[in-house]
Amino acid sequence: MKEIALKTAFVERVKKDPFLGEELLTSLDTASPTTVRLNPFKKTELFANEEKIPWCKNAIKLVERPQFTLDPLFHAGCYYPQESGSMILDSVLRSLPLPENPICLDLCAAPGGKSTLLLSFLEGRGLLVSNEVIHSRAQILKENVTKWGPNNTVVTNADPSEFDRLDGFFDCMVVDAPCSGEGMFRKLPDSRTEWSEDNVHLCAARQTRILHDVWPSLRAGGYLIYSTCTLNEMENETNVQNFCQETGAEIITVPDLPAKSDRKGLGYYCLPNHMNTEGFYFAVLKKPDGIVRNIKWKTKKDFKPIKWTEEIEEVIDLNGQSLYDWNGKLFVLPTEFEKEMLHVQAHLRTLKIGLELGEQMKKGLQFSHEWPLSCLNKKTFPRIELNLEQARSYLRLAPFTLEAEKGIYQVCYNQIPLGFIKHLGNRFNSGYPKEWRIRNL
Ligand code: SAM
Repeated sequence: MKEIALKTAFVERVKKDPFLGEELLTSLDTASPTTVRLNPFKKTELFANEEKIPWCKNAIKLVERPQFTLDPLFHAGCYYPQESGSMILDSVLRSLPLPENPICLDLCAAPGGKSTLLLSFLEGRGLLVSNEVIHSRAQILKENVTKWGPNNTVVTNADPSEFDRLDGFFDCMVVDAPCSGEGMFRKLPDSRTEWSEDNVHLCAARQTRILHDVWPSLRAGGYLIYSTCTLNEMENETNVQNFCQETGAEIITVPDLPAKSDRKGLGYYCLPNHMNTEGFYFAVLKKPDGIVRNIKWKTKKDFKPIKWTEEIEEVIDLNGQSLYDWNGKLFVLPTEFEKEMLHVQAHLRTLKIGLELGEQMKKGLQFSHEWPLSCLNKKTFPRIELNLEQARSYLRLAPFTLEAEKGIYQVCYNQIPLGFIKHLGNRFNSGYPKEWRIRNL
């Protein structure tokens, strides 16, 4: 492991803190375990014999760290590497009395660890609005959410202050706030050099602002899960306590968690010296019950419902889905939540809504790269199985030979779609998007 010293001010603070103490410091210099969450929508035999993580469904601890980037199934969205402390969100969500089809928000969502966990938890029910304020990071979020597969999602690129436009809209929200990152000092030793006391203060103030900004969009009786990957009281307990005093939010305790109660009995910590995780803090807050607002539904006028065609029925499972046209582009939204999804799109900068199926051209439907990766993709559509070398070439956008009749095909690796190609008989055009191209493969 790379040896980078912890900053003296951090070490002194931890030594004086009976809650953390020297044990924590020792554990920060041990090796981090490699853990992944498997995608329940894209089942494979991967990692079948490895150790399960008890606090999260489909979560696995690996004996060795593979080079994920070399594995086509990683790029197909079959699993997501994630540190195991933050996977405790799964147990927390399962403990809450949420509606059958909850409307959820992941406010600080890039690159998509919590969003893919939320999508797995939802199992296609309800709706997830996955938001990231930084545009370049929001694109990565969109890619990871698309690869996970379900279409009950809207990916937005908005500042928390813009969420007041969705007054009382969400049943549940996750605020995985930007923080000083002390909990990542074991896994990412380079981050030790970026730490400063000033930054802790700055982060704490920003977290307070974010929480106040997003609170109006939670409905009365709804739940907010606040989390950070840092270990100091100011960004965690103090922020939570002050926020509860200022807003009347109620603290919810979660029974039977392996995590440790925090310094004030408000939230919980997963710690390297306690659970062999990275450092992760969370607290669950409930908005007091009260009047549930009547929402004035809004939609973009040029986003219009249209009828299914036979051509589309061939590629997509239509069960419970609605089709929309937006300037020639076709989108598939779950019928039960189309009103809510369109409402979000009408109020916030939207990068993805449901499944973008393709574009209606004179010659017929031109597919989008989202279609083969979607859970709605019909398994019956013609497929070509690629070997490892071909699959890697496909993901690198490098040329390779592939014999087939003229036509559109899904290309798969281990039966899992990676994307599509249009075969012209003597050569083919790749449907893999340039912006997703994997260079170091
Ligand atoms: N939830 C993510 C996951 O599990 O993959 C990790 C989120 S990371 C801890 C915090 C995120 O907040 C970053 O993506 C960062 O770009 C974003 N962020 C930075 N400044 C922000 C702000 N002022 N308001 C909201 N989000 C912000």
